Amino acid sequence: MSVIPKRNILDYSRTELEHLFDALGEKSYRAAQLMSSVYHRNVDDFNLNTNFSKSLRARLSEGYEVGLPRVISQRLSADGTRKWIMARQDGNAIETVLIPDGRRRTLCISSQVGCSLDCSFCATGKQGFGGNLTTGEIVGQVLNVTRALEVEEGDASLTNVVFMGMGEPLLNFEATMRAADIFLDDNAFGLSKRRVTVSTAGVVPRIYDMCGTTEVSLAVSLHAATDELRTELVPLNRKHDISSLMAACRAYLQSLDSRRVITFEYTLIDSINDEPEHARQLHELVRDLRNKINLIPFNPYPGTNYRRPEPDRIKAFQKALLDLGQMATVRTTRGDDVNAACGQLVGDFRDRTRRRERHSNSRSAEILGSR
Ligand code: SAH
Repeated sequence: MSVIPKRNILDYSRTELEHLFDALGEKSYRAAQLMSSVYHRNVDDFNLNTNFSKSLRARLSEGYEVGLPRVISQRLSADGTRKWIMARQDGNAIETVLIPDGRRRTLCISSQVGCSLDCSFCATGKQGFGGNLTTGEIVGQVLNVTRALEVEEGDASLTNVVFMGMGEPLLNFEATMRAADIFLDDNAFGLSKRRVTVSTAGVVPRIYDMCGTTEVSLAVSLHAATDELRTELVPLNRKHDISSLMAACRAYLQSLDSRRVITFEYTLIDSINDEPEHARQLHELVRDLRNKINLIPFNPYPGTNYRRPEPDRIKAFQKALLDLGQMATVRTTRGDDVNAACGQLVGDFRDRTRRRERHSNSRSAEILGSR
């Protein structure tokens, strides 16, 4: 006899759960009740939902479950940053990072296993790609962390969730949008739309698809203001160049209210994109969009030839922008002692692209060549 696998309740947005209850001949408000039992009261056994009829409880228990990714390990950085490694059912690992900062608690989540984009400066890209996460696996990262915080600190609340972990969220569009819906839902995490951020390397058609679909914040990983340099750093730029990316950003801004801005992320790499001239080009490019620039000093990892600029160079780059009237902050590096900093999340998974092999071959070739 074949056993039908149970469906994961964490895969469903509220609207979808309402349809589900509808189909079961139940009132749609049951969806909100079920969500708040799972997300607020940590009830995983549907039989404990005594406000549901016995037969409803039985039907739910038979066909559904609360499927959380399994926590394999945790690491705590000296600066308070925490990294969780969680396993999918297939054993592949994903990484999730909590960044406490005063009253802020930001959770950085993964949307894919590895990443298919292979940006030249990112460690995740070097690991290759192992597939899209499901909505439940994206939401489950957050729920695992909030449940742990509740137990340890008596306070489950997060202030921000950012899709800046492993993967390109807009290449896993449906699951990302549905997860974002759940993050905003008052019956689940109740986050403000401004505090949920989707970060993209520039998947232009999907930015257009976001217009009218969602109102979450958008961060765009720019890193260069000319196509020549950007293509070197972000190969996706060959497919979607800077001007098409800017047009998509403008469209998304137009779909939001006039107080909202787009964040442009700019990883500063020594002698690659950190000259004052680059700052001027960057300002020219973004000046007519409501924006802020977030400068990310490059985080090194084994095998990369890139370097982080000296602190003076980072300051000078920021000052060049500020002098032009351009808002720009420098992201403090957090958690690099536990490899939890931007671009250091590598997980451990089966690469489907053989890119890991190629990168390690070319590295050994370099090492051999230099002998
Ligand atoms: N794919 C998405 C989200 C993941 S990356 C995106 O590209 O936006 C999150 C941010 O970290 C991106 O801005 C990325 O460019 C940056 N980043 C990647 N590797 C880095 C490194 N080694 N040092 C500093 N920032 C890095």
